[in-house]
Amino acid sequence: MKIFITRQIPGKALEELKKIHEVEIWPGPGIIPRDILLKKTAGTSAVIPMLTEKMDSEFFDKAGPDLKIVANYAVGFDNIDLDAASQKNIAVTNTPSHLGDSVAELTIALILALSRRIVESDKWMREGNYTAWDPSLFLGLDLSEKTIGIVGLGTIGLATARLADSVLGMKVVYTARSEKPEAAVPGWRFEKLPQLLSEVDVISLHVPLTPKTRHMIGKDQLDLMKPSAILINTSRGPVINEAALYEALVNRRIWGAAIDVYENETGLADDSTWWKMTKLPNIIMTPHIGSATIEAREEMTKIAVENVLTVLSGKPPVNPV
Ligand code: NAP
Repeated sequence: MKIFITRQIPGKALEELKKIHEVEIWPGPGIIPRDILLKKTAGTSAVIPMLTEKMDSEFFDKAGPDLKIVANYAVGFDNIDLDAASQKNIAVTNTPSHLGDSVAELTIALILALSRRIVESDKWMREGNYTAWDPSLFLGLDLSEKTIGIVGLGTIGLATARLADSVLGMKVVYTARSEKPEAAVPGWRFEKLPQLLSEVDVISLHVPLTPKTRHMIGKDQLDLMKPSAILINTSRGPVINEAALYEALVNRRIWGAAIDVYENETGLADDSTWWKMTKLPNIIMTPHIGSATIEAREEMTKIAVENVLTVLSGKPPVNPV
C-alpha cells in the first residue's frame, strides 16, 4: 500500500515500513507546501504528518477512499480535524511515549536557565565583558523549597512535577480538569488556576491546545502572578497570549519566561510581537525542541510505524486519539 510521510524522520523503524509498503517521503527543505501535500497524499492508504500539516476536511476529501490512518508524528494533535477524520472512518493516532520525559527534562533545563540567567550571562561572557568576580553579577533565584505550579498534569506535567520535586526540591501545586490519584504525594496539592497562578514561583504549562486552553494565560492571569514568577511554556504557543506576555516582560511584571512554542509558529518572520520579544533579556526561546532527543525521535518513529502497520493489517490502532 502507498504511504506518504511529510518530512524526513529519524529512526530504524522506517525500514520495517519500507519492507512491506511503498513509502514516499517529502525530501524538504522545510514544510511541505499545501498543494504538494494534497497531490502526494491522494490515493494513499496511510499518511504520517508532522504537526505543521493541517489535516482538515479538504485534506480528507482529496486523500480519497483508500486512506485508513493518519499517524501524527507528535503527541499533540491540534493540527487534525478529528470530526472530519471520524466521519470518513479514518484512524488518527499520536506518539505518546518516553518523550514525556524528554519534554520534562527540557522544561527543567529552561527553569534553571531562566532562574540563574544562564543564557544572558553566556551572551555577556562571549561579548568579552567579564573582568573579575563581582558579588552583584547576574543575581538569580534559588528554586529549592519554592513551589512549581503545573498547569495540566498529564504525561509531561507529571514527569515535570516529579523532576521538580526530586531534583530541585520544589513543592508542587497542579491544576487539571480533575484531581489526579497519581498526584497523591506529600508536598503536592490541587488548586484552581487563579489560586495556582497567584501563589507559585514557577508556572509550567502542559495542557493540549483546545478551544478552552487557547489564551488560557493572558493579561488577567499574568497580573495574578508574583513579580518574581517564572513562566515556562513547552505545550503549544497559543495557550499564551503573546502580546500580553510581551507587556508583562517589558514592564518586569514577572521575572521572566522561557518558551519552546509560539503563537504564530509558522509565521514568526512576520510577527512583530515575536520580533519585539527577541530583544528582551528576560525571555529564553527555543525552537520547539521539547521532544528533540535522539531517543525520543527514534521512539516516535517506532510508534507511528507500529500504528500504520497495525491499522493497515486490519487491526485497531495502538495509540488512537
Ligand atoms: P496529556 O497526557 O493529554 O495531558 C494533558 C493535561 O492537560 C491533562 O492533565 C489534562 O487534564 C489537562 N487539561 C486539558 N484541558 C485542560 C483544561 N481546559 N484546563 C486544565 N487542564 C486541562 O498530554 P501530554 O502528553 O502531557 O502533552 C501535553 C501537551 O504538550 C501536548 O498536547 C502537546 O501540545 C505538548 N507537547 C509539546 C512538545 C514540545 O516539543 N514542546 C512535545 C510533546 C507535547 P485532565 O486529565 O483532567 O483532562
